[in-house]
Order: sequence, then C-alpha cells, then structure tokens
Amino acid sequence: MKFKVDHDYHIHTYLSSCSRNPEQNPDFLIRYARENGIKTICITDHFWDDAVAGASGWYAAQNFSHIREILPFPTDPEVRIMFGCETELRRDLTLGISPDKFDTFDMIVIPTTHMHMNGFTVSEDGSESAEERAKLWVERLDAVLNMDLPFGKVGIAHLACFLINRKSEEDYLATIRAIPDGEMTRLFTKSAALGVGIELNNGDLKYALKHETVMRMFHIAKSCGCKFYLGSDAHNPGEFNGAVQRAERVVNILGLTEDDKFTPGSENV
Ligand SMILES: [Zn+2]
Ligand SMILES: [Zn+2]
Repeated sequence: MKFKVDHDYHIHTYLSSCSRNPEQNPDFLIRYARENGIKTICITDHFWDDAVAGASGWYAAQNFSHIREILPFPTDPEVRIMFGCETELRRDLTLGISPDKFDTFDMIVIPTTHMHMNGFTVSEDGSESAEERAKLWVERLDAVLNMDLPFGKVGIAHLACFLINRKSEEDYLATIRAIPDGEMTRLFTKSAALGVGIELNNGDLKYALKHETVMRMFHIAKSCGCKFYLGSDAHNPGEFNGAVQRAERVVNILGLTEDDKFTPGSENV
C-alpha cells in the first residue's frame, strides 16, 4: 500500500526561540492536522538538556523546564499529539540530550546540518568550504549513528537542509553535490539497520523537487531500505502550506509504500 502522509513529526511551537509566534500553539496544530488528513503530530521544540554541559546561550534558554510548558496537550478524538524535541549536535560531536531524558520523549529529532551556528556547530568564522561541509555532513551523521540512542524513536532531521551552506543556493548545491554517493550508501545502510527515521523535511523537499542532486540523497536512502517520515518543521502557521502535497509528490517519485514508513516507538527495521 502506498505511503500515506498521515503524520508530521517535526513541528515547532511558540516556545522555540525562532518562532515565538503565539498562534503556533497546540490548538492551531490540531486544526492544521485535521484539515490536512494528519492523524499524528509530534511537537519538537529546540532543546538542550541542562544535564549536558556546553549549551550555547541560544540553547541554554531552551531547556526542559522551558519546553515542557507546552504540556499538557489538549485532547482530540481525531489527532494524537506526541511530545518530542529537536536537540543539537555540537561541533565537538556532543549531543544535547542525556540518556536520562530518552524516556521522556515520544520522539527525538536530531539535526546534523545546522551548520549556520558559527563557533557552536562549525568553526568560529564558519569559513568551511563546500567540500569541508560535505565532509562534516558525513562525520556528523556517522557520529550520531555510532551513539547509543533509542533509534526506534530517533529521527534524523533535514539531511538536505539549506543551513548546511547558506551563503548562496549555488554554495548549498555544491555542498550537497560534494557528498559522495558511496558515503551516503554506507550511512543510509547503517541508518536502515538501526531503524532510525529519515526525515522528509518540507524545506529539503522544495530543493529536492528542483534539483536532482538533492533528490539523489532520498533515492539512495530508499534503495538502502531506510524508513521515512514527514517533518514540516513549521515554526509559524504559514509554513505548513503545501507540506503534505509536496511530501505526496516525493512519495510518488520515490515509490514509497507503507513498509517504508518510520513510526516512532516501533522497531522500524
Ligand atoms: Zn532543525
Ligand atoms: Zn526544526
């Protein structure tokens, strides 16, 4: 059976410092879900655990006592809301969540491509070239896959994110192009064996639908047996526009079926 886009497992609320939009709240998210045939959503505000040293100033404010302000969720007969987070991977490959918190979340989204945070995820001046950033794509994903994590509820966020090199679209595309197919195959084979989720991120899909070099990442992930989920990554109500339809186009292009779907809390292998 064809992959149904009936979920959205990467959504921010007003609690994320890059949203702060009071309209981006659970009641609105339920409405969005109902209007788009979505049965399960997961709220994943930015999070750095106080138990892990080394937060940046921006992340320090987004600790657990901050993000849990979104609880309790309203109940809805048609839409299930899960509690998750989007944590961070520092430049020294420290992950911003301690094992004590693994059980607290229904889903843990891990970004490896936030390479716009100079001094925190990349060098002080962020001067890494496209080739160096492509190497970081490999090293940072590899590091996460080598960690001892509850992979059945871990999603790897936006692997084709524009933030990998936001100098220009040309620099971004050069970075994605510089990631060798062989490394993608190695890492996606490992991802499939671990049962980690690969995100169909709304922002990434905009590029994938325009540029074959971006789409190739998802083709390789599919050929390696990875499981996928939709993440709109919306920070504001307008950012949901077209996310489900775009994901459906990509589902058709990749030929995804329900067997290719990542479900947090399942084994996913
Ligand atoms: Zn992110
Ligand atoms: Zn996000």
